[in-house]
This record gives sequence, C-alpha cells and structure tokens, in this order.
Amino acid sequence: MVKVLFIFVPVFIACVFILVVAQLISPKFRGKMMSRQIKAAKYMMDESKDDIRNISTNMADATKDGIEITTRAIKDGLTKDERVYCKHCGSLIDKDSKFCKNCGGEQ
Ligand SMILES: [Zn+2]
Repeated sequence: MVKVLFIFVPVFIACVFILVVAQLISPKFRGKMMSRQIKAAKYMMDESKDDIRNISTNMADATKDGIEITTRAIKDGLTKDERVYCKHCGSLIDKDSKFCKNCGGEQ
C-alpha cells in the first residue's frame, strides 16, 4: 500500500511538473489548453443559459410590481402640484377643473 503511494505520488508530481513546464515553454500547448478551457466555459454557459434566463425572468417578474408602484408614486409626486383630490369622492382631478371627473361634484 505504502509502496504504491511512493510510486504514484512522484509520478503525479512529475506529470504536473511536465505540464507546467510544457505550458511555460510551448505557446502551442498553452493555446491548446486555453482553447480547451474556453470551450469548457462556453459549454458551461450553453448548459446554464436556460437557467440564467429563468432566473432573470423570475427576478423581473418579482421586481415588476415594485417598480410599477415606485414609478407611479414618482409620477404622482411630480404631478401633485397640478392635481388635487376631489372634496366629495377623493379621486385625483386637475387643479383647475371646476367639477370632478369621477363624481361630478363641484369643487
Ligand atoms: Zn369627486
């Protein structure tokens, strides 16, 4: 058992050493390894594309309502000076209108 380790570990270290040296010396070998890594990354991206799309769709759905409410609040805030609440029904109407659009009550 120990004997196997004594053989295996030096062989493993030698293999790693050879790989590192080959990568350092040979640009061709480096390019080959790099292109393999790029291929692996591309493959991973292809595999996870649907998942990422799913996640972003879910996130968009989750934040849509919040964004809508915020946008409406900002819009209301920006146009607040131009609009007032009806004295009778409380709906938003133009400041200079004499009658409410909703209930017809006089302002
Ligand atoms: Zn009204």
